[in-house]
Amino acid sequence: MIVVMNPHVPQPTIDRVMAEIQRMGGTPHLSRGEFRTVIGAVGEEAKIDQAHLLSLDGVEKVFEIMKPYKLASREFHEDDSVVEIGGGSVPVVKVGGKHAVSMAGPCAVENREMLRTIAGHVRNAGATILRGGVYKPRTSPYSFQGHGEPALKWMRECGDELGMPICVEVMDTRQVETMEQYVDCFQIGARNMQNFDLLREVGKTRRAVLLKRGLAATVKDWLLSAEYVLSQGNRNVILCERGIKTFEDSARYSLDLTSIPVVRQWSHLPIIVDPSHCCGKREWVPAMAAAGMAAGAHGTIIEVHYCPSEAMCDGPQALLPETFVGLMEQLRKIAALVGKEFV
Ligand code: PEP
Ligand code: MN
Repeated sequence: MIVVMNPHVPQPTIDRVMAEIQRMGGTPHLSRGEFRTVIGAVGEEAKIDQAHLLSLDGVEKVFEIMKPYKLASREFHEDDSVVEIGGGSVPVVKVGGKHAVSMAGPCAVENREMLRTIAGHVRNAGATILRGGVYKPRTSPYSFQGHGEPALKWMRECGDELGMPICVEVMDTRQVETMEQYVDCFQIGARNMQNFDLLREVGKTRRAVLLKRGLAATVKDWLLSAEYVLSQGNRNVILCERGIKTFEDSARYSLDLTSIPVVRQWSHLPIIVDPSHCCGKREWVPAMAAAGMAAGAHGTIIEVHYCPSEAMCDGPQALLPETFVGLMEQLRKIAALVGKEFV
């Protein structure tokens, strides 16, 4: 249920409506837009008395959101959400609205030196968030699984040195508490998009969450996964289109470019594009990054390695640092054409 308040209502009036929602067994979520304050009443709709809410002071209208996801919907929050990543030891980087972000780094953190070298390259090219996996979701249990906590420390150290917030994949609920001490942004990998316990757990933190689209998930499934995080009170969700399984087998996955305008119509959440994992081959990555930005994405996440043939994970799709420099130049121009800016 959505409760739209009259413009400029005082806080005690809003508090009273929130308390009434709670009394009826719902959970109130406040959304302050530029002109309007909206309260989302989440819970069993049958228990929430629409007529009663309408009778309260300051309430302009009450309606049901017909979509299965509520807090992720445009109805709940009309303006684009701007998610902040970082703060504390590193600057805050904004994603959403007119703010475009460039996340880049190696697929996996292999050792401290390689991380520092790649991080330096991507930062000089204009990336503002450092990505790097320390727990890797590998198809084979015999493949490199990541260095775990020591690599997390290298990521933090490197991010702090370069003034870049860090984004690291979390694979298991048991990792959340430790990782929260290190990371600025939790990445939920495609394979874990429907790990609902994990979604709830990161939802209890206030760190940004980069939620990748599942390999075979519809946009609706994906937004419902976002809803799991949002429903725990964490509003800092960024979606990431990284390609889905289709019958086409020329590339690793098919990048669903259409999902970008669809998500932007259905939801207020920022969406970025991952051209590395869908292509699986570096030659195709720049084109799909450019296409994603042109389609309205709020940025990119791209894998970079100075020696891809030696990479322990995802070498064939890693861009060389010099290619990444050229690509960033191109992406800045495209962003300007679609009313966005890389910070
Ligand atoms: C990754 O970012 O390295 C990764 C494993 O991505 P995905 O979950 O999209 O496959
Ligand atoms: Mn990878």
